[in-house]
Amino acid sequence: MLHKNLIGGEWVEGVGVTRNINPSNTDDVVGEYAQADAAQVEAAIAEARAAFASWSATPVEARADMLDAIGNEILARKEELGRLLSREEGKPLADGIGEVVRAGRIFKFFAAECLRLAGETIPSTRPGIQVEITREPVGVVGLITPWNFPAAIPAWKMAPALAYGNTVVLKPAELCPGSAWAIVEICARNLPKGVVNLVMGKGSVVGEALASSPHLDALSFTGSVEVGRHLAEVCAKTMKKCQLEMGGKNPLVVLDDADLEVAVNCAIQGAFYQTGQRCTASSRLVVTEAIHDRFVSAMIEAMVKLVVDDALKPGTQIGPVVDQRQLDQDLMYIEIGKQEGARLACGGELLTRATPGFYLQPALFTDTTPEMRINREEIFGPVASVIRVKDYEEALAVANDTPYGLSSGICTRSLKYAQHFKRHAQAGLVMVNLPTAGVDYHVPFGGRKASSYGPREQGRYALEFYTTVKTAYVLPV
Ligand code: ADP
Repeated sequence: MLHKNLIGGEWVEGVGVTRNINPSNTDDVVGEYAQADAAQVEAAIAEARAAFASWSATPVEARADMLDAIGNEILARKEELGRLLSREEGKPLADGIGEVVRAGRIFKFFAAECLRLAGETIPSTRPGIQVEITREPVGVVGLITPWNFPAAIPAWKMAPALAYGNTVVLKPAELCPGSAWAIVEICARNLPKGVVNLVMGKGSVVGEALASSPHLDALSFTGSVEVGRHLAEVCAKTMKKCQLEMGGKNPLVVLDDADLEVAVNCAIQGAFYQTGQRCTASSRLVVTEAIHDRFVSAMIEAMVKLVVDDALKPGTQIGPVVDQRQLDQDLMYIEIGKQEGARLACGGELLTRATPGFYLQPALFTDTTPEMRINREEIFGPVASVIRVKDYEEALAVANDTPYGLSSGICTRSLKYAQHFKRHAQAGLVMVNLPTAGVDYHVPFGGRKASSYGPREQGRYALEFYTTVKTAYVLPV
């Protein structure tokens, strides 16, 4: 069956077909997905525009019920959709199911948010006048999403967009469109025609057409810094609001007084789980002198026990890399690290499993310096490096010495250092004795510097992007 694009409530074929391949077994085709072209993108935007007047005026309780129904169906189908997710993306089944649950919960959270859209009334400086501040939907919002959270990211963009009265055109990642397609199919049965539209295909064609359309009001993007920078320019040229979530080079600081077991757990999970393919992954382990050697040995001991295998196989802890291109990038950085003089202390080999897939043993570099490319550029794979530092002050300086600023973590039992780090880490997320990756769905998510641009996503803060403020002055006569 060909999975088609959704334009104005109709499922339509595209101009080409993408084969969605299982990275745990490249002989397994997860499905065929239509590729849209620029004309279909414009048609989808026009349908979303046509649906906007009625959707934005739909009573909040009705909107809440529809979003809640979508959330309930996603939750009820968590096993099936979790399996699909793990099959197309390669994260272990428990993580695939976990992500689907998260997507369902996000819809339910924003269902309730429909009822909480409050404004403000403020006394005017002029006698007799009332000032009212309200929020209105932005209009038609374009959503461009990456492959690494193929259910959660579409959900955390679609749900707030819809809750606050916008209509949407979603362009999921070409590599893993299956989870987004399944969620959109649920949306299509629960929402009026045209409120949610889906156009699949290449970023350079479909994403570009969406972002550059003069008929789109706002764009929310998650992906690479390179594409994000380009889209910021495109949005500026067409004067549309934009929100960009991009990469990370997240530090996990381990201080001498850390609980070693906690620190190793945080590092293993943060650096290698989900194959390191998270923008919040801990790729720089910044470790103080007195604990350094114990930490490195405990890391290696834990790493050799990691089960790297088929995402759907019971017991797998680390699934495959998502595709050949990403695998080539991971291997290239492992080579770069060696050439830069870092010591490959563990892993980095290609692995053979029962099925053909992109299996890579998680890799740890030691004896690295902050200037090395492996410590400055986002690798997006199961590769981490240890940077040895003298004390907390140097650790903080090294942690902040990066163009990125998404997540940062510290393992310590010192309240003083934990508090200082929480305040001085130049990142949008700070974790104390917790992995840098792994966040709640009801609180803001986002970073600083090259990691993020525009308002925060998720939780109630999502309304900054998905609404626009109106100030009304009234003289009651
Ligand atoms: P990743 O490394 O996660 O694939 P990308 O930034 O390449 O990061 O892709 C993230 C999303 O952006 C995907 O849906 C992709 O198709 C889309 N995309 C890529 N290039 C462009 C572009 N020039 N314009 C709009 N969207 C794009």
